[in-house]
Amino acid sequence: MNLIFLGPPGSGKGTQSLMLEKLLNVPKLSTGELLRKAVDEGTEIGLKIKSIIENGDFVSDEIVINMLSEKLNNGDCSNGFILDGFPRTIEQAKALDILLADIDKKIDAVLELKVDEQVLIDRISGRFNCADCGAAYNEKSNSPKVAGICDQCGG
Ligand SMILES: [Zn+2]
Repeated sequence: MNLIFLGPPGSGKGTQSLMLEKLLNVPKLSTGELLRKAVDEGTEIGLKIKSIIENGDFVSDEIVINMLSEKLNNGDCSNGFILDGFPRTIEQAKALDILLADIDKKIDAVLELKVDEQVLIDRISGRFNCADCGAAYNEKSNSPKVAGICDQCGG
């Protein structure tokens, strides 16, 4: 099954798509994560992305589409995939259509999460991450077991 997940930050998109990833046994492709991973791995495209970000510019749709294309052609996606955070614009949606037609795939469903604006603000304003491992916490709904100590890495 090929899915697209839409929703603002704090809508629970990450959590829900992670659950679906396990349930359907298909990979979740978050374009933000793909970009960060490419930068961390220092691949050719990663270095290019790094310099774009360091210059304060946005990574072009072309680069994102190329990265997605590589992933979607990968064997991992033969059972399907979940797109998280992409497409964000009409232009990106059109580019995705072309990419999918090229590799003979179709989107089965688009899920949009809608959450009350005040609830979103409350959720996002309480968010923080471990500086060592990046584990996500929320001071209202998901704080570490010991205050100031990361559950995951002890940092
Ligand atoms: Zn940690």
